[in-house]
Amino acid sequence: MKYELVIGLETHVELSTESKIFCSCGGHSSPKEANDCVCPACSGMPGMLPIMNKKVVELAVTAGLMLNCNINRYTTFDKKNYYYPDLPCAYQITQLNHPICTDGCVTIKTGAGARDIRIKQIHMEEDAGKLVHGGKFSFVDFNRTSVPLIEIVTQPDFRSAEEVVTYLNKLKSMFRSGGISECEEGAMRCDVNISVRPEGSEEFGVRTEIKNMSSFEAIDRAIRYEAQRHMDALEFETEELVQETRRFDDASGKTFAMRNKETEADYRYFPDANLMPIIIDDEWLEQIKANKPEAVDEKAEEYREAGISDKEIDMLISNHKISKLLDDTIALGCDAKDTAAWILTDCAGILRKEGRALSELDITPEKLSAVIKMVDGGKINRNAGKKILIAVIVEGADPVEYCKEMGLDRKVDSSAIDSVIDKVITENAQAVEDYKNGKLKAIQALFGACMKELRGAGDPSVIKELLENKLK
Ligand code: ADP
Ligand code: MG
Ligand code: ZN
Repeated sequence: MKYELVIGLETHVELSTESKIFCSCGGHSSPKEANDCVCPACSGMPGMLPIMNKKVVELAVTAGLMLNCNINRYTTFDKKNYYYPDLPCAYQITQLNHPICTDGCVTIKTGAGARDIRIKQIHMEEDAGKLVHGGKFSFVDFNRTSVPLIEIVTQPDFRSAEEVVTYLNKLKSMFRSGGISECEEGAMRCDVNISVRPEGSEEFGVRTEIKNMSSFEAIDRAIRYEAQRHMDALEFETEELVQETRRFDDASGKTFAMRNKETEADYRYFPDANLMPIIIDDEWLEQIKANKPEAVDEKAEEYREAGISDKEIDMLISNHKISKLLDDTIALGCDAKDTAAWILTDCAGILRKEGRALSELDITPEKLSAVIKMVDGGKINRNAGKKILIAVIVEGADPVEYCKEMGLDRKVDSSAIDSVIDKVITENAQAVEDYKNGKLKAIQALFGACMKELRGAGDPSVIKELLENKLK
């Protein structure tokens, strides 16, 4: 029999806020050592009360807007009770009754075509701490306790592992470009709910839930393994499927039963009376909408139409700061495709030489556009433009002044180039000799000497040609 896979996802994303969700301890990227960012509130001391971090609401709403959700203007928190050593209050503050966003939708495209994935809800909650096991002891690290999370719950709309991974990549690039989360490994964790059913059947099969996976590769492998296990169980009656929670073992590539599925009642959810309901009024919502970055799809389409390559678009979309620099530079009158190349090839190259990443690029759109315009306007050649760019990025130079100072905009006519070439040839007899004896590489040294004499002015291809002719 042919079977169809049915998958629903619950994805937890740690938000990029400066502080935790209910106290002023440093957020997700702050801690350096274990228990660096802990206070009486997030370590569950008696009598401490939570205070809502406004930024968390704004990021959750932004995520909801990106995923085409309804934003609920009245949203509340609930306590989910369970005991575990990484949960000092013995309850997690989460949202059950009035989650912040509901009923969204996101379209994904795979080899099998486009599919709409319905988003059931997005809710806000706090993360738990971490247990560190070593030798005879286990240690508890509360740095992660109360770091804000959003949990995005989909309807069971996925039909393959490929669709799941495509969706997760899409969330990741959306959230990164929107400043919601960097989504590094560990900051994005997934529970995968799986069932299979005979193809054509309307009824869902028994589902299992694979808990807490953070690498997309593991998620992909876990789904394939679990789907096969379900199909074998149905086809050959190898075992009876029960609704349960399982864990994926990376080493063996298999899943193992952890516990029977707990129900809502097990957690004794009840409203958290320590936190007031949050009301999102029109003014606040409009403000959040105004600050929301353009949807990734629209942005990518805009770049594609401007002739920017897919590879470049990926780099831009995953880096909000860089795509904003591009947009602002284009707004100053520079060509989109050309500017993308200046940023992603030239600026990135300069930084790489310094051992820095493109995300560390610090240049204003005004300075970048000044360089590009000097080159496009024929005032200087591209080489001189690069030289100026180095000075701007590394030393913070002013492009126009630097250009003047270094004489990079000097017009050189071919007679000036001629005399420089003559001078270089006389001064570098050995290299000339080598070249004549068949060491063609020697021309590089001569060419370099010419460029140095001309201090970057003049068209390099013309200079090279004149030099070759003269040597011949
Ligand atoms: P629970 O309250 O038991 O966690 P939910 O209704 O919240 O159940 O669903 C949890 C996740 O399981 C959702 O992502 C949903 O899409 C998914 N899901 C529900 N039923 C199935 C099924 N039969 N097969 C696969 N996934 C399912
Ligand atoms: Mg659930
Ligand atoms: Zn704290």
